[in-house]
Amino acid sequence: MNETIDTRDSAAAPERCFEHLRPRDQPESVAELSAALLRPFEVVGASLAVTECLFEEVPFVAAGERRSWFDPSGREVTAEFADSLGLNDSIALERPHRGMREIEGASWIAERFPDSIRSAEPIAVVWARWARGKLTVAAPARSVDLEFEGWARHLATGRTRVAPFRCPETGASGDRIVVSDDGEPTVPEALGICAVSGRRRLVSHLVPCGVSGALASADRLTECPVSGIVAIPSTLVRCDWCATGVAPSVLVKQVCSLCRDGVPLNGDSTWLDWLADHEPDASAWRWSFASSRIQGVLVGRRWPRRLALHVVRMADRQALRSRIRSVWGSWVTRFDAQSEVARPGANATQPE
Ligand SMILES: [Zn+2]
Repeated sequence: MNETIDTRDSAAAPERCFEHLRPRDQPESVAELSAALLRPFEVVGASLAVTECLFEEVPFVAAGERRSWFDPSGREVTAEFADSLGLNDSIALERPHRGMREIEGASWIAERFPDSIRSAEPIAVVWARWARGKLTVAAPARSVDLEFEGWARHLATGRTRVAPFRCPETGASGDRIVVSDDGEPTVPEALGICAVSGRRRLVSHLVPCGVSGALASADRLTECPVSGIVAIPSTLVRCDWCATGVAPSVLVKQVCSLCRDGVPLNGDSTWLDWLADHEPDASAWRWSFASSRIQGVLVGRRWPRRLALHVVRMADRQALRSRIRSVWGSWVTRFDAQSEVARPGANATQPE
């Protein structure tokens, strides 16, 4: 058994025919494999199916007195691996295909196997199946593929499994697949509830309210025009003076920082021109002004103890609201523009 056979000699030697076998309990069809492929997953609100599965036949050769197994590259595989593929419990293939019939005889062995097996007596070729394909999660808004590959018998026995589903938006993964109210498939850990609408959405679509910290859809939030804090509309509090909904942190005794902290206007201020256009007797008042990026407030004071107030959008100096009162009386709103609060995002919707 120790003699080596020269490749040239073996090529010239008479060809032997091997018996072509396959593992007895190896899955032979997609239908036999699909239950095992789908088994790890629990799906609610979407469908999960095997949408592609291709088999590749891979030859393993049994040879030598010890009945060792060799893979197609000529490497010996362990007995445990050979057992896991069912190589030792194989049955004859009824109809070997053409590619299989070409793998016959000593020349095929000589081309790829090391000297140790060339000198041994090949016993059989067992064809193990390598499976490659994908499962598809189909949800109303999106479909996601889960690719897999592995030995068909390993996939059938659970030794190899399809990798857990990975949410394409958040990157979270798991075997439980659920669907958001937007129709996107994901895992439960990646779902959050919008505190405004109550909709179950991907956490990547939710942002924390700057006042309460609760998660809500970005398009449901409003920007406080004084502080710029983005918050759930219901968490904003109305300023007693300018009647603007603002973050509670900018209020002192119900008056916001813009109404409270105005700086007296000097003669150079262009705001005096603005007031001349908007206040009938502007020069009779002493004006002060404060602004944020979004909104400005002009406060006028006049004897005896009267207050006038103009709320202005900074972007275009458009008057949003105008009020007047005596210090002891209540405010009278003289006009009130419609869009009093700047909202982030192009798809802004009205607060609830
Ligand atoms: Zn105010």
